[in-house]
Amino acid sequence: MKKIISVALALKREISKNNIFSYSVPDEIFVDENDVGKLVKVPFTSRILLGVIIKVFDEEQYLQLLKNKNHNLVEIEKLRDILHIFHNLPKLDQHFFDLAKFAADYYHQPFGDALEMSLPPIYRTANFDENKEIKIKIKIKNKYLTKNLAKNLQNQNKPKIILNDEQQIAVDKILASFDINEKAAKNFLLFGITGSGKTEIYLHLIDFVINKLQKQVLLLVPEINLTPQLENQIFQRFFDNENNENNANNKNANENFAVLHSDLTAKQRDFYWRLAASGKAKIILGTRLAIFTPLPNLGCIIVDEEHDLSFRQRDNFRYSARDLAVFRANNLQIPIVLGSASPSLESWYNATISKRYQLLTLSKRANFQAILPKIKIVDFKYQHQHQNQNENSAEIKNFISPQILEKIHQRLANKQQSLIFLNRRGYATSLFCANCGWHSTCNHCDSNTVVHLQQFQLRCHHCGFVQKLPTACPKCGEQNIFNAGLGTQKLEELIKIEFPTANIFRIDTDSVKNRQQWLEVLEKIHNSNADILIGTQMLAKGHDFPNLTLVAVLGADFGLFASDPRAEERIFAQLLQISGRAGRADKSGEVLIQTRFKNHHLFLQLLEHNYVKFADNQLRIRQKTNFPPYCYQALLRADAKNMAVATNFLADATQFLEIKQNAKIYENLLIYDPVPLNMAKLADVNRAQLLIETQNRQLLHKFINNLIPYLEYLASQYKASQKLSWFIEIDPPEL
Ligand code: ADP
Ligand code: ZN
Ligand code: ZN
Repeated sequence: MKKIISVALALKREISKNNIFSYSVPDEIFVDENDVGKLVKVPFTSRILLGVIIKVFDEEQYLQLLKNKNHNLVEIEKLRDILHIFHNLPKLDQHFFDLAKFAADYYHQPFGDALEMSLPPIYRTANFDENKEIKIKIKIKNKYLTKNLAKNLQNQNKPKIILNDEQQIAVDKILASFDINEKAAKNFLLFGITGSGKTEIYLHLIDFVINKLQKQVLLLVPEINLTPQLENQIFQRFFDNENNENNANNKNANENFAVLHSDLTAKQRDFYWRLAASGKAKIILGTRLAIFTPLPNLGCIIVDEEHDLSFRQRDNFRYSARDLAVFRANNLQIPIVLGSASPSLESWYNATISKRYQLLTLSKRANFQAILPKIKIVDFKYQHQHQNQNENSAEIKNFISPQILEKIHQRLANKQQSLIFLNRRGYATSLFCANCGWHSTCNHCDSNTVVHLQQFQLRCHHCGFVQKLPTACPKCGEQNIFNAGLGTQKLEELIKIEFPTANIFRIDTDSVKNRQQWLEVLEKIHNSNADILIGTQMLAKGHDFPNLTLVAVLGADFGLFASDPRAEERIFAQLLQISGRAGRADKSGEVLIQTRFKNHHLFLQLLEHNYVKFADNQLRIRQKTNFPPYCYQALLRADAKNMAVATNFLADATQFLEIKQNAKIYENLLIYDPVPLNMAKLADVNRAQLLIETQNRQLLHKFINNLIPYLEYLASQYKASQKLSWFIEIDPPEL
């Protein structure tokens, strides 16, 4: 009997929010009810698209539905045939559909977009052949790590670790929650100071899930490229032949461990996706996009560094992988562990106030020889005004306090490592004219251009605009133009002059462009006994340098008085993390933070390593000011060629609320005035936003559902030349 199928097309917002279409199945293709969830290729207008089977009907069932007429179904004769069904690719299960549906609804995106984003792009290519078995010989062991580096990383991990009391309690509580009859919440916030052994807890958990339960674990991390250590640890623990001769996972290491992130080739992504989606892979380590992987046998989710903004996708489909992970775990009723040394205030609220999460605390460093570094605040105002370009390069004292320099000298003498943290790459933050006050700005953005001396260029770090470095002021012709503000390149230059015998490494996205280079640099650092590391936040992320005993933080004041209420939370987390790099092994560490505002409460709480005090205090402020997590927000953004167009569009959008408010439905919804973004112009586009706020989450979503068609209508009234575009972001992480 002829079969008719409903297919959800995996395509970006193009036709309509409803992307489900009916197709007929030609005689030569076999399809039955068991094929729901399989991928198909179908014709759509003049294109060929990828889709997923949602339902399978017999001809009679379909005719019956047609008769009912309340469905928008096409008559059988008009249906087009599907072209192919991918019988040999894993099929998507109901749990995956739940997730995609939830994500689409919650973030107000089309369901088709969620599908499109979830599937390996290679499946959409015309000549993709699922049966041409992809043979990727991926050697997991030392896959990217050279022998030497692997050994270095290994040495830092003593083979047999006995959990300390706090770790044991945490593990016990989480393991207890695997019991199906356990009614207690299965959401955990693992709050552990840097070096407290959170990773060890993850490994215990993974062991339990893959070996005892025979289920899959999803481990989400912010950045795989910067943390090869974790990948290596997992490999050693579960798949290394030498260490675990009896481990059944050994033989199939290639198939038991899937790594999913955006840096994979199309073939690798296909390979790992199939391993994960078929249930073969037991451990799935991935960045945010991995949350959308179908995992038929998922037993537990772990989100490391849960506060990290990398879990947010900030374009196209705007979502939070951490929040979706919580949904996913709750939907399956499996445990989820969110780990951090500086949890997001949302998670802290959930753990301490709403009690949606159980709080597990690790308050001590795990390695008993390692104690938390002493943090000191160094009062220093750096002087960058009006010097001659040639003179100022020799003046390290203008930028770094003598106290810090002295400490670095001491470390050098003792053959210990120092790290200087400066979160500004480039040479100088801009070029200034001593005569007329001109400074270098981007032609396309409301931003400075940054001096890159080696290339003799001015560069915009926002849009990529590049100019030749002028030798005189373009405005008045003055030759005395100088570099203002310190970037990592200039810092490196100054440090080399100050410490001529030291072995110095600079690590930022200009010097280390990809994973390969990062691994090479790491190896060099380990092999050559680096003395001084200079770097941006690349250095803050979870890498262990056992010989590192001094961390100096420059530019801690950047953003301290920003208008975004979350700025302090970010700075605190970052400073805590970078401080945590010091003294992780047996040598005690010291952290010096250079600031002009030594009495700022943020620094005072940092001195005590007191995240709890800081977070509780921030939550009180947020309650008073009625800011998330004490309310729900959505952001409406409009971009246009001219600012007036963008703000007018937003102002018009508020009309919708006013009309509705007369009906009192949206009384409890607060809509702010449209405002230009702090950096309004980016790459010749002017940007404005307005904030929508309420105590009632359902009301917010209802409002947005109604607002979207209105915005679509409004936007259609603008000419293409005005380049108007808009989007809505739910739970915006930045304002
Ligand atoms: P975190 O992820 O919390 O920053 P890690 O898990 O990286 O901390 O642990 C820091 C160091 O302490 C690692 O070198 C780890 O091997 C070690 N470690 C963890 N747990 C223990 C333990 N129970 N006993 C001894 N050392 C431990
Ligand atoms: Zn000038
Ligand atoms: Zn620019």
